[in-house]
Amino acid sequence: MSLKIYNTLSREKEEFKPITPGHVGMYVCGPTVYSDVHLGNCRTFISFDIIYRYLIYLGYKVRYVRNITDAGHLEGDRDEGDDKFSKIARLQQLEPMEIVQKYTLGFRHVMQLLNNLPPSIEPTATGHIAEQIEMTKQILKNGYGYEVNGTIYFDVEKYNKEQPYGILTNRKMEDLLEGTRELGGQDEKKGRLDFALWIKAKPEHLMQWPSPWGMGFPGWHIECSAMSEKYLGKKFDIHGGGMDLAATHHTNEIAQSQACYHTSPANYWMHTNMLTVNGTRMSKSLGNGFLPEELFTGNHPLLEKAYAPIVVRFFMLQTHYRSTLDFSNDALQASEKGLKRLWDAYETLNKFSMGNVQLASDPELDVKVNKLVNEFDEFMNDDFNTAKVLGNMFELVPVINSIKDGLIKTDAVSSATLTLLQAKFKAYLEDVFGLKNSSANNEKLGDVMELLIDIRKEAKTKKDFTTSDKIRNQLASIGINLKDEKGGEMSWDID
Ligand code: AMP
Ligand code: ZN
Repeated sequence: MSLKIYNTLSREKEEFKPITPGHVGMYVCGPTVYSDVHLGNCRTFISFDIIYRYLIYLGYKVRYVRNITDAGHLEGDRDEGDDKFSKIARLQQLEPMEIVQKYTLGFRHVMQLLNNLPPSIEPTATGHIAEQIEMTKQILKNGYGYEVNGTIYFDVEKYNKEQPYGILTNRKMEDLLEGTRELGGQDEKKGRLDFALWIKAKPEHLMQWPSPWGMGFPGWHIECSAMSEKYLGKKFDIHGGGMDLAATHHTNEIAQSQACYHTSPANYWMHTNMLTVNGTRMSKSLGNGFLPEELFTGNHPLLEKAYAPIVVRFFMLQTHYRSTLDFSNDALQASEKGLKRLWDAYETLNKFSMGNVQLASDPELDVKVNKLVNEFDEFMNDDFNTAKVLGNMFELVPVINSIKDGLIKTDAVSSATLTLLQAKFKAYLEDVFGLKNSSANNEKLGDVMELLIDIRKEAKTKKDFTTSDKIRNQLASIGINLKDEKGGEMSWDID
């Protein structure tokens, strides 16, 4: 059973064969840190976190590089408009690096709340200016760039005569040209699809560096080419990002690497589909972005309540990363309930004592449970289908609950099957999916509740019913219910 990955380049699911056996190099385009990340951005980063975690689960040593774009991203993808950082810095009367610092820290905080693992390396564009200049020099030397007044452009037309420029999204030059505007008299570029590798800075531009072509700053596309080469080599395994990056940013990255090193940078190009709101892509420019913070606090006119970060993560996993996902209050509410149901079953499962049942008394059920569990790996190997794994988990929940409630005999399935079930639930829920208990909100609340239950028990033993009632009633008044379980134990839940 081998891992298959959908490759945007071939438009097919391909068997994953790493360049160096046992190792994976993965580059994912990171955020442009001139404002808060919205939930759409988070979807892409959660998807690649799952991919990273699953590759680790399979036993690979993974070098995961995700950059921080802290310079050079102009408002238009094809070098039109202002520099995003300079614009905000001027508006807010701050140093561009203050903007970068603020939003980089904010981004990392959100990633941590969503339980994304940090990447192995998180390089910044401003920290790699020298590498970007070197690459630009080499592209010029190889004849694929030209200089106009201190700005260096990539010559797309010349490149396309030798190899297809639109290879990643399977589009011809004519089709690509259709989406661009005619060049005007004041344009320096030769071709409409040409893009800047290095941009001459006006004296008032806030972020600029010396180069062989005068003071300037790098283009956005060269940044990822230079940093991926530095940390993963001229050819690495996986390159990822949101689908919106394929047609321009990643297409240009391929052209740059081919023009510079005569090789396409990555073997597998992976693209996540968009998070939408009422069917429209969530984006900063459309102003329909939900900020993670608004979700975690419930502070948004379209939200009925707050949702824990882990519920948001779970919501994202219920859809395959290549399908669109529509964001709504109802969908989040359903996810909150779903995660609670799943986590309760997982905790129940962890309490089962395995016994020593070698032969299941219900062989049919035993086979069914084995099949559902073994499919977890199968689904993930089929282009990381988290949605299908969760589907199987939900089929297993009633089985677990029925064993707990005594509706199914404890020897119905063998000890080996139960052990497998326990191990796979743990590996998937905690390690691969990175989920946690959401209803208890956090483990500390669980510890505090245990303490209160203990105090109440002691009070009852001493016949101090004033204290024991006070604990129960006051907890109930804030929506926490204490329940008597079999054997004198107490449990609790939140309304
Ligand atoms: P940016 O900060 O705009 O450079 O975007 C960071 C990442 O988020 C890129 O990989 C984008 O493709 C991705 N992204 C942007 N909008 C969405 C969306 N609505 N859904 C999923 N991913 C998105
Ligand atoms: Zn990039």
